[in-house]
Amino acid sequence: MKRESSHNLRMCLCYAIVIFLYLCAAQTLRSQPNISNNEEMQSKAVDSVKSIRMAEMTWPDIKSAVERGYTAVVVAVGSTEQHGPHLPTMTDARTGDELAHRVAMKLGHTLQAITITVGCSKHHLSFPGTISLRDETLRMIILDYIDSLIRGGFNRIVFLPLHGGNFPIVQATLKEAQIAHPGIEIIGVTNLTGLLDCLSAGSAEFGITAKESGAHAGESETSMMMALERNLVVKERFAPGYVGPMGEKEFKIFREQGTQALAKNGVLGDPRKASADKGEIYLDRLTEFLIQEIKKQSH
Ligand SMILES: [Zn+2]
Repeated sequence: MKRESSHNLRMCLCYAIVIFLYLCAAQTLRSQPNISNNEEMQSKAVDSVKSIRMAEMTWPDIKSAVERGYTAVVVAVGSTEQHGPHLPTMTDARTGDELAHRVAMKLGHTLQAITITVGCSKHHLSFPGTISLRDETLRMIILDYIDSLIRGGFNRIVFLPLHGGNFPIVQATLKEAQIAHPGIEIIGVTNLTGLLDCLSAGSAEFGITAKESGAHAGESETSMMMALERNLVVKERFAPGYVGPMGEKEFKIFREQGTQALAKNGVLGDPRKASADKGEIYLDRLTEFLIQEIKKQSH
């Protein structure tokens, strides 16, 4: 009798375990979408490129985009350096990032790689907050970007230096990279004079002189930052910096002694006539200028 009841108890326990496992399995199956639904969801996810900023994408989405013809990529080369008492140190990085995004959107079938946010800024180092790379460091970063992007499947790589100090090293490095990778289209918009002319032509239409528009933290750069990051622009501190001639003598002082030798506040230009509306126009013009320069260089 005793043995029989313990046998029954064991049977009951076995049944209970089987029922429990069955219920668990049923619950698991219910919570999973069926396979065909799952595939449908995946194909929907890869069909739309929600962002062209690779930093905001997952690797499967980037892989899928590349396979569908997004084989071009744009990279801005900015800086982190003083921009007078009224603009944040990220000014060149932020403006560069915005322009690279607009350019990539306009080119079509193009993704944007994360912006290089520091550059060669030694002429601003006497102002705190400036972080400057050695030329060789920037060269290595650019070469590593190119190697990585090629590994990722890209065959057209466009660099947009938006900070004057980066132009010579970007130009030399891209030349070197193009020789090393003849099958890849490597483009750099390194026409600094053209870029400055584009800005001063815009300023002239607003009745603003090229000297006010400025080479650094003047009206044009301030206007663009007012359009992009209004809350980071300190209007109460708008004050003219150096607005004298910028000939060979002044460039020599700038190169050898740094910005503070020309302007104590770090501004080359005058931001007082800056506005967000003008900034939007400058951004549009610069985008157009960059697109034309890229087209000129396209293989
Ligand atoms: Zn700048």
